Amino acid sequence: KIAVIGSCSIDLTVEAGKRPAAGETIIGSRLIVSPGGKGANQAVAAARLGAQVHMIGCVGDDAYGTMIINNLKTNNVDTGYVSVLPGQNSGTAHITLAEGDNSIIVIKGANDLVMPKHIDTAWNVIAAADLVMLQHEIPLPTIDYIIGKCAAAGISVLLNPAPVQPVPSEWLDKVTYVTPNEHEAEALYPGKTSEEILLMQEERFFMTLGKAGVAYAKNGKVHTVPAFVVNAQDTTGAGDTFNSAFAVARCEGRSLDDSIRFANAAAALSVQKLGAQGGMPYLKDVERMLGE
Ligand code: ADP
Repeated sequence: KIAVIGSCSIDLTVEAGKRPAAGETIIGSRLIVSPGGKGANQAVAAARLGAQVHMIGCVGDDAYGTMIINNLKTNNVDTGYVSVLPGQNSGTAHITLAEGDNSIIVIKGANDLVMPKHIDTAWNVIAAADLVMLQHEIPLPTIDYIIGKCAAAGISVLLNPAPVQPVPSEWLDKVTYVTPNEHEAEALYPGKTSEEILLMQEERFFMTLGKAGVAYAKNGKVHTVPAFVVNAQDTTGAGDTFNSAFAVARCEGRSLDDSIRFANAAAALSVQKLGAQGGMPYLKDVERMLGE
């Protein structure tokens, strides 16, 4: 049982031959509407891997909110604690894909209104979870509240500190697992090297290194678990898939090394298809890749 507390959004991606200049109107080639938000992405990934998942978050009372909730339900995620906030917009990301690069404007919308009261309301499912998954796309005071409450109740928490933001150092000591990429890890401990950070946080920090895999420290040494070599099409959502697969594997009692291998396999499958959720694998796909 996993409880994901975080963001849920709709990504609106337009493709165009070039980026419009200030004051200019251009005709694009297509619009892609896809569900996103790190919280929802992680909830969907965990559910596809067979976990019983509750999503806790907020959407607006707009058409996007309905799409977000329907997408979660389609993926077997329980949405009983996704609150619909009257008069608010759902979170949206406005992405322009032009000249081989993307420019993004994020509107936080209802994701910025996830408050301690929503955590209290959902406390029965949070307390019953084997693991609570958090990211940085809801207000930091709410994350602080969750970490404090879970620590006091002895509930395991996985913090994916993305997108990068400075956070209170006591968070990092209260949670069970922290999964930064290299860039995020260095922002959590300014001035320290990746190796120093991993050695300080043995068997708690799991640093994702893209196609180089994952590094963590054990018995005073840094170990790297290599990624699977695949033909990557779109790495959006790779980190989200990694986090959820690692969470599911740990909840099933796999060892740390085995959980990382399982998560690397899931993430490698996810990068072979387009879109954050498009390539997220099902349990049987990962088992087949691992030869289980
Ligand atoms: P983020 O997207 O959060 O920065 P990473 O890029 O580090 O995260 O990717 C997370 C995980 O996804 C990696 O640890 C690895 O297991 C997998 N992954 C990412 N890119 C690739 C790739 N090109 N080939 C295979 N696996 C990949």
